[in-house]
Amino acid sequence: MTSESTDNTEITNKTRVENVIIVGGGPAGYTAALYTARANLEPLVFEGFQWGGQLQNTTDVENFPGYPDGIMGPEMMSQFRAQAERFGTRFVTDDVDRVELSDGGVQKVFLGDEEYRAKTVILAMGAEPKRLGVPGEMELAGRGVSTCGVCDGAFFKGHRVLVIGGGDSAMEDSIFISKFADELTIVNRRDEFRASKIMHERALEVENIDTLTPFTPLEFVAGEDGKLARVRLRHSETGEESAVEATGAFVAIGHVPRSEVVKGQVDTDEDGYIKVVAGSTRTNLDGVFAVGDVVDHTYRQAVTAAGTGCMGALDAERYLRDSAPPVEAHWFPGGEPAALEIPAGS
Ligand SMILES: Cc1cc2nc3c(=O)[nH]c(=O)nc-3n(C[C@H](O)[C@H](O)[C@H](O)COP(=O)(O)OP(=O)(O)OC[C@H]3O[C@@H](n4cnc5c(N)ncnc54)[C@H](O)[C@@H]3O)c2cc1C
Repeated sequence: MTSESTDNTEITNKTRVENVIIVGGGPAGYTAALYTARANLEPLVFEGFQWGGQLQNTTDVENFPGYPDGIMGPEMMSQFRAQAERFGTRFVTDDVDRVELSDGGVQKVFLGDEEYRAKTVILAMGAEPKRLGVPGEMELAGRGVSTCGVCDGAFFKGHRVLVIGGGDSAMEDSIFISKFADELTIVNRRDEFRASKIMHERALEVENIDTLTPFTPLEFVAGEDGKLARVRLRHSETGEESAVEATGAFVAIGHVPRSEVVKGQVDTDEDGYIKVVAGSTRTNLDGVFAVGDVVDHTYRQAVTAAGTGCMGALDAERYLRDSAPPVEAHWFPGGEPAALEIPAGS
C-alpha cells in the first residue's frame, strides 16, 4: 500500500480509512477528540484555519466548571486542544472544503483535491454570531462589545448597556443583562419588533429596560481607557446621526450555523442547523454525527458544546463497535473488518 504525505498531512495516510474524522476545532470538536482518542480510535481532527472556535474572540470565561478564578477564552481552548493531543489526536489546521457523506458507507472529507476517508465523521463546525459590520465592533470585542448576553452579562454590573436587535434572542439577552446593568436600551432598526409578542412584552415589563427605534448602529467608539464609551447611531428614516453614551453593547441579531460544507447532504432545519435524533448526536445518515453549536440554537454555551462533543464520541464509538465496516472500506488499509471472537465449541 502506498502512503502519501504532503506538508500538512505527514501525520495522516490518505489511503487509510480512519475510524473517525472530526470537523471543527471548538469545545465540541476537541471534546469529541479527547473521548475518541482515549477510546484508542486515533481521531483525525480538521480543526479549521481559525482553530479554537468562538472562544478565541472573548476574554474572561467564568462559567465553565473547573475554573474557579475564570480563564481567558483562548487559553481555555489551548488547554482543550492539548488535552486531546495528549492521547494521540492528530490535527490538520485547515478548513475542510467539501465532504461526501454516505449513509453507512465510507465518509469522505476533502482539503482541495486531497481526499480523506473515515468510517465515521463527527460534524462540529459551530456557529458564527451575526455581526453588524461597523467600525469598532470587532476592535472592541471583549472591551465593552459582546455577542453573548448569557456569557458576558454579569461583567456589566452598574453599566449603561445597549442591546442591538429586535428578535427573541435580543429580548432574552436584554432580560438577562438587565439583572446586572443599571440601564438597558434595546436599539432596533425598525419601530416594529420581530420578537414574539410575549417576549417583547416581558422585556418591556422590566423596570430598567427601554427601547430606542428606528435606529441603526454606525460605530462603536472607545473612550480614553480603550473600552467602549459610546455608540453612534443613525435614524433609519431621517438619516440623522446621534450618539448614545454606553459602556456595554450586545449585538443580538442572530447566529449562522457553519453547516455550509454539508448543505444538501445531511438534514438541516430551515435555519441551517443540523438535525439530530433527540437525545443523541445521530443525524439522518448512519455513521455521521453532529455536535455543538452547529446543532444547537438554544443553549449555545461552551459547556453544552463540550457535553454534546462527548456524546458524539460515544455515539461514534458504539456505532463502530456495533456495525460492520462498509464494504468499500475493505479496499483500504484501516478498513478491514474487526477480528471476530468465535466462542469455543461453536
Ligand atoms: C463573544 C462570545 C463570548 C462567549 N463567551 C462564552 C462564555 O463565557 N461561556 C460559555 O460557555 N460560552 C461562551 N460563548 C459561547 C461558546 O463560545 C460557544 O457555545 C462554543 O464555542 C460552541 O462550541 P462549538 O465547538 O460547537 O463551536 P465553535 O466554538 O464555533 O467552533 C467551531 C470550530 O469549527 C471550525 N470550522 C467551521 N467550519 C469548518 C470547516 N469547514 N472545516 C474545519 N473547521 C471548521 C471553526 O473554525 C471553529 O474553530 C461565547 C461566544 C461568543 C461569541
